[in-house]
Amino acid sequence: MRIVMIGAGYVGLVSGACFADFGHNVICVDKDAQRLDALRNGRMPIFEPGLDVLVEENSEQGRLGFTDNLIEAVSQADIVFIAVGTPSRRGDGYADLSYVYGAAREIAAAMSGFTVIVTKSTVPVGTGDEVERIVAETNPKAEFAVVSNPEFLREGSAIEDFKRPDRIVIGTDNEKARKLMEEVYRPLYLNASPILHMNRRTAELTKYAANAFLAMKITFINEMADLCEQVGADIQDVSRGMGMDQRIGAKFLHAGPGYGGSCFPKDTLALVKTAQDADSPTRLIEATVSVNEQRKRAMARKVIRAVGGKVRGKTIGILGLTFKPNTDDMRESPAISIIQTLVDKGAEIKAYDPEGMDQAKPLLPPNVKYCKTPYEVAEEASALVIVTEWNVFRSLDLDRLKTVMASPVLVDLRNIYRPEQVRQAGFTYACIGRGDRG
Ligand code: NAD
Repeated sequence: MRIVMIGAGYVGLVSGACFADFGHNVICVDKDAQRLDALRNGRMPIFEPGLDVLVEENSEQGRLGFTDNLIEAVSQADIVFIAVGTPSRRGDGYADLSYVYGAAREIAAAMSGFTVIVTKSTVPVGTGDEVERIVAETNPKAEFAVVSNPEFLREGSAIEDFKRPDRIVIGTDNEKARKLMEEVYRPLYLNASPILHMNRRTAELTKYAANAFLAMKITFINEMADLCEQVGADIQDVSRGMGMDQRIGAKFLHAGPGYGGSCFPKDTLALVKTAQDADSPTRLIEATVSVNEQRKRAMARKVIRAVGGKVRGKTIGILGLTFKPNTDDMRESPAISIIQTLVDKGAEIKAYDPEGMDQAKPLLPPNVKYCKTPYEVAEEASALVIVTEWNVFRSLDLDRLKTVMASPVLVDLRNIYRPEQVRQAGFTYACIGRGDRG
């Protein structure tokens, strides 16, 4: 099977490398010359555990290549996946589909013979119809089918997720396309990953419904955590007590600083817009978006309370910048709002993140001081704030931190420490939803 992947980002690169690993011939096309240059020289443009080895092995075997020559790649392909970004459009929050439609036009002009065009990008209901229209308009003689095949991988465990998905969703009514898609995913089918066939619009909506539900689940437990603080209950126990109920499930029930990342914020917003346009508003998702947005600044206020109500002139140390561990992705990370709010109130910021500092620099205020270790962050700090639960932050030497800090205050926005342990070490400890109002 000859596969072309348009877009070599988190999804395109991981999917392309995994398809090559299944034995298909894959060419990844990207417009970003720097990204291609890095890939051709064996350097990864993103941090994703295991990706470097997978790319190297499959490139060496001649099954995986990288190019900016879309025309040559697409003209020889059986299947072309579109895996370009669909960020929030400035101004109205709807999904910006210009990259998807741009790719569709280029594919249409380049393809020859029956070609299956697959949207792997997360796209609103009806986008497949528009891609179909664009392709037919650009190349009236083209023989093709447009399929929706949304991706559910998570950054940080993307390869494992891609190779062992809970399900594969394929949206098409075209029999020939359906057979080709089954061929592409056959190695996973042998692993017993179920393939769900449905119509294209249903597949497009399934992805948004799944993401919106997960975002709502996180937001639900965050609100419960706030309530725990007010009434003297413990959110960790509430989560466990809820999550063991199999109808609810334990995942995505960890209270924290609010969801971020490249998917949940933009996808919830895009779903709200789609639903409003369809005269079928999704009030629960509207509330989720608004509650989550307010939460990030509320986390900064929690830090300010922990240091006695004022941060002007004080140094605040931030541990973790990325929206979650094991990625370098900074898109919509809660750290951005938290740091901006603290800077607005006059704090000096020192920060450390194992992988995300390069991506963080353009997004954070220019006077943030980046450090090489958590202990360097702690020097002269009036508080340390754990924003992302990287493993290196789970067993910090509290005695060592205490000796270098201006005042021993730990604000744990991920609840990775036991309160009594931190307090016994002589710290003021604030966390999320564990009894006392932090
Ligand atoms: P990304 O920004 O990391 O990568 C997109 C890539 O596409 C970039 O390298 C860009 O240069 C390239 N590109 C844009 N237009 C192009 C064109 N016309 N021709 C060639 N290359 C082009 O994006 P991502 O995080 O991989 O997300 C891609 C899509 O997958 C989005 O719709 C996203 O919602 C969805 N998705 C993302 C994740 C995730 O965890 N990141 C998970 C599931 C689904």
